[in-house]
Amino acid sequence: MKFTSTRNTALSVPSAQAIVQGISEEGGLFVPESFPQLSLEEILEFAKHSYPECAARVMGLYLTDFSREELLQMAKEAYASFDSEQVVPLARLCENESVLELFHGPTLAFKDVALQMLPRLMAASIQKTGAKHKVLILVATSGDTGKAALEGFQDVPGTGILVFFPQDGVSDMQKLQMLTQRGENVAVCAVEGNFDDAQTGVKRLFASGEVKERLAREGWQLSSANSINWGRLVPQIVYYFWAYSCLVKEGGAKPGEAVDFVVPTGNFGDILAGYYAKRMGLPVGRLVCASNDNKVLSDFFATGVYDRRREFYKTESPSMDILISSNLERLLFEASGRNAEVVAGWMASLAKEGVYDVGGEVLAALRADFDAGWSDGAHARAALARAFAQHRYVMDTHTAVAQAVAEEKAGGAPFVVLSTASPYKFPAAVLKALCPQEDHPDAFEAAGALAALQAAAAGKTPEACLPEKIRELSSLPVRHDAVCAPNGMEEALYAALGRIAGKKATN
Ligand SMILES: *Cc1c(COP(=O)(O)O)cnc(C)c1O
Repeated sequence: MKFTSTRNTALSVPSAQAIVQGISEEGGLFVPESFPQLSLEEILEFAKHSYPECAARVMGLYLTDFSREELLQMAKEAYASFDSEQVVPLARLCENESVLELFHGPTLAFKDVALQMLPRLMAASIQKTGAKHKVLILVATSGDTGKAALEGFQDVPGTGILVFFPQDGVSDMQKLQMLTQRGENVAVCAVEGNFDDAQTGVKRLFASGEVKERLAREGWQLSSANSINWGRLVPQIVYYFWAYSCLVKEGGAKPGEAVDFVVPTGNFGDILAGYYAKRMGLPVGRLVCASNDNKVLSDFFATGVYDRRREFYKTESPSMDILISSNLERLLFEASGRNAEVVAGWMASLAKEGVYDVGGEVLAALRADFDAGWSDGAHARAALARAFAQHRYVMDTHTAVAQAVAEEKAGGAPFVVLSTASPYKFPAAVLKALCPQEDHPDAFEAAGALAALQAAAAGKTPEACLPEKIRELSSLPVRHDAVCAPNGMEEALYAALGRIAGKKATN
């Protein structure tokens, strides 16, 4: 299997190179040259195997530079830290509806499914391609990605990681998760500004020739862990196959019956993996894209016009507060008949004017696979409260956006809502939906109250409901205290490298 670029189909590179590079030189995204097929028979077998075995099978179809044994070993290690034996368990809410819980990893968000795999793929790819420098991962985060990337790259040989976060732009729980991060190759720095300041600063570091030269002298090259990297996308294809197989096994769908998937969407990585699964032979009906108030995607699927020139809303589902969904480019590449020139034109128009229009033909092609809807905070809270009242199921605020859209769009087909975060990661917002009269300004107090509520409904103890990771977070020592101004990020980078080298030296 080789990979080409959405903006240059003359290109053909092996998977290890696509992973180390992250993004193609002309700015396009790496995509597989074809979609390998899996038979229904084999798909139905998946539920009989362990999740790491399924992961090795599906990823092996794309990552042909890696042996099956290598991938299986990596997947076993990657998913050993998940607090569910099934890794991504499927919860049946009722006859037609199931929830795929993707949040059982170390940081309690679905990003772990990919970011526990990517560092292992990256380390092996560095060796396979003979890259001579160590790889420094630079991340600007609005919350979930930063912590999941830190946890994933912690102590991975040949790599280092530096995460910048906006000092007052992440939740208390998210900030504490990052500041208590262990590891000899990790650094965290607060930026005195908002997420855009941090993001712009990181882009500037990537683009600077001076930074590149100085890092090279010290033996480093930069790379990125965000969801445009193929190594982050491919682990996500796995769980669609897994969910389908489990659903059929439990009698929730007949073998071969089409199942709908409803996905809370931001950067379009999660739902795109579902599209790839469909192209590989999975019986998927509709892929329903669910947006919050920042509904640039649901507007796009309604009109064919992608228009980012709009107000940005801060919502209770912050990981979906995105106006540029990078991975949509990969879908447009397929929908346009793999026309790199046309795709490059749309992306240029987006960068320059903030808008592009794909036209009726491409829109019709997209609508054959996708449906879309959106939900504001009030509707999401109402859906969250209904799921608890009717099914005694507690979901987080991102999943609730998808639940609200699912209620609106449900047809007769069985459907799966993808759950992207633990409710204990956003306990105050979840409690606000379940008990609007209560007010818990302290995040740990809110988590405790939520555990009591869930325990009473489920006939369990609060201790059994509250995730271990949240419990231990309140007592972990703070290990990072670096702060910088938006124009001081380059200095902060060199200081972080110094600290990383220092930690190594003292051991
Ligand atoms: C990242 C994230 C999303 C959005 O996923 P995309 O792949 O960017 O569409 C949704 N929910 C949560 C909790 C997330 O962390």
